Amino acid sequence: MSSNAQEVRDVIIIGSGPAGLTAAIYTARASLAPLVIEGEPSSTSDQPGGQLMLTTEVENFPGFPEGIMGPELMMRFREQAGRFGAEFLTEKVSRVDFSSKPYRVWVRDTEYKAKSIIVSTGAQSLMLDLPRENDLIGHGVSTCATCDGFFFRGQDIAVVGGGDSAIEEASFLTKFANKVYLIVRRDQLRASRIMQDRAKNNEKIEILWNTRVTELHGDAKLESVTLTDTVLGDTRPLAVTGLFIAIGHRPNTDIFSGVLDMEESGYLLTRQGSTYTNIDGVFACGDVQDHTYRQAITAAGSGCMAAIDCERWLENQH
Ligand code: NDP
Repeated sequence: MSSNAQEVRDVIIIGSGPAGLTAAIYTARASLAPLVIEGEPSSTSDQPGGQLMLTTEVENFPGFPEGIMGPELMMRFREQAGRFGAEFLTEKVSRVDFSSKPYRVWVRDTEYKAKSIIVSTGAQSLMLDLPRENDLIGHGVSTCATCDGFFFRGQDIAVVGGGDSAIEEASFLTKFANKVYLIVRRDQLRASRIMQDRAKNNEKIEILWNTRVTELHGDAKLESVTLTDTVLGDTRPLAVTGLFIAIGHRPNTDIFSGVLDMEESGYLLTRQGSTYTNIDGVFACGDVQDHTYRQAITAAGSGCMAAIDCERWLENQH
């Protein structure tokens, strides 16, 4: 569908993961004809469909007892929003101006105007930036233990990182894996004391200090990695069929810097129990404002909240 850049729309949704597309389904059904600016297909951070496009099987999304592939799940969300009249623009927002109404967003040089905005630009896992890393995501390399741990029953796997996330992931993975190597680039952990003790007291976790993963091996699936000692520079192979990267996340909020209130880490701040941001009529949902749960279902839930907040806010403007 083509979108008319000149008209003032009721709502523009920026981002098309589970949060943005759920907001699209709800606002479309409320006859608000949302325009979803869904991202850029060539990007691994702003791709339409969000982080689920980088996963394979999703087994924890309610309603799919047999499981569903991440990209197919997102295609179904999109179709459902389209069925009720959501419009899609497969581009990336380059700039926003929320200083006066109607609010304005730019896609390259084209300006779009709306009375309200729903921000659902998500977050991205920080990656190691190794060759083959992107190819092997969903084929041994993962950024979500909750999502993928189950597939590594009885196997030897590794987690990269030394923060609370890495230890939480490693501990969780010991429920399934035979052995979990925790690969830490320094000689100490960044994690809180209680989490450190949890890792050290777990018999299935072996911490490899002063170590980096420097190569990934395997054709269709991960088979092993090369480790490099950060002090001596020695390398050695490690046979693992799973590698969980837990070195932090980054919310996609660069374009909102100085515009929307955010934490120091870049996560957008919303008013407690709602999706209201500091700007009236601008709402935020999904991982861009959540560093705790980060699940497709919680993102979808907050997308529904944003749509309802937005619809009620628009009604009150009349
Ligand atoms: P952190 O930034 O706390 O930790 C990141 C870890 O990854 C550090 O050990 C860092 O090493 C390592 N790292 C970073 N880049 C690389 C790289 N390129 N190669 C190898 N290692 C790398 O991120 P987390 O996601 O762990 O935590 C984020 C926030 O969330 C924290 O405030 C944390 O406390 C909180 N959190 C709390 C939990 C809980 O309480 N249950 C659970 C999960 C998160 P280095 O130390 O050398 O910089």
